[in-house]
Amino acid sequence: MTIPEGLQRILATANDVVVLTGAGISAESGIPTFRGEDGLWSKLKPEELASFDAFLSNPELVSEWYQHRRHITRESKPNAAHTALVEMEKYFRRFTVVTQNVDNLHRRAGSKNIAELHGNIERNYCLGCRKRYDGADFDANGSFRCSKCGGLIRPDIVWFGEMLPADQWDVAETAAATADVMFVVGTSAVVYPAAELPVTVRRSGGKIVEVNIEETPLTGFADFSLQGSASNVLSEIIDKIKELRGVAKDTE
Ligand code: NAD
Ligand code: ZN
Repeated sequence: MTIPEGLQRILATANDVVVLTGAGISAESGIPTFRGEDGLWSKLKPEELASFDAFLSNPELVSEWYQHRRHITRESKPNAAHTALVEMEKYFRRFTVVTQNVDNLHRRAGSKNIAELHGNIERNYCLGCRKRYDGADFDANGSFRCSKCGGLIRPDIVWFGEMLPADQWDVAETAAATADVMFVVGTSAVVYPAAELPVTVRRSGGKIVEVNIEETPLTGFADFSLQGSASNVLSEIIDKIKELRGVAKDTE
């Protein structure tokens, strides 16, 4: 893949960078997107599991689905795309990863400035007493009922019909409003309100670079559309940044 001239200029001069990521960036870590096959669960639609109503009407089923997804994410590792973003963070004055993923992989890879728009599968809390069950606590508890009050324990995830966490959304919106460039990686970017972020970037004069294996509704809107897997494309981008900007700041 050749990185277009215009994009090279941006990589060489940008100060303020935002990366919006979706399920596609984790596909190469073995975490299926909702459109991918996922054995047993492929018969059930995420929309029918990932809602408060679904949880209340069948907490056992919904909890099992999250437990299944938690096992997949724990067994997977960040891939070259996550790692490239960790590297990129060193080259720009401001660098924000805004993710719709709940898989914790950006954090595990080592990205520092992350806005998690849809929550994180490793965090859970009791609906009754708000006791938090993080990671291993939840497993040790061995039930979706709270050990303290018997209430239902839900994942700290944004379900269909729920509001995004205001603090995370603020970080994302503020970053988008000042970004010189936004990379949109592995997301069809059609789910609102995240889909508004590229519009915000554009309105304030920033550029949009799409990274996806296929065309999406955003492709026509993007300034640059790089077709390929997130790991291949972002590896090339970080190599180019290194070439254009020299040694990383932390090794200077
Ligand atoms: P989506 O609509 O964002 O679709 C995934 C996108 O990734 C598609 O556009 C696809 O073309 C692209 N893609 C697939 N493999 C890729 C690769 N290797 N490199 C680059 N792009 C690739 O997401 P969805 O799967 O419909 O999920 C909907 C919602 O559920 C989102 O909020 C999503 O983040 C969340 N979800 C999260 C996870 C996770 O945390 N890993 C997994 C599934 C779904
Ligand atoms: Zn409780």
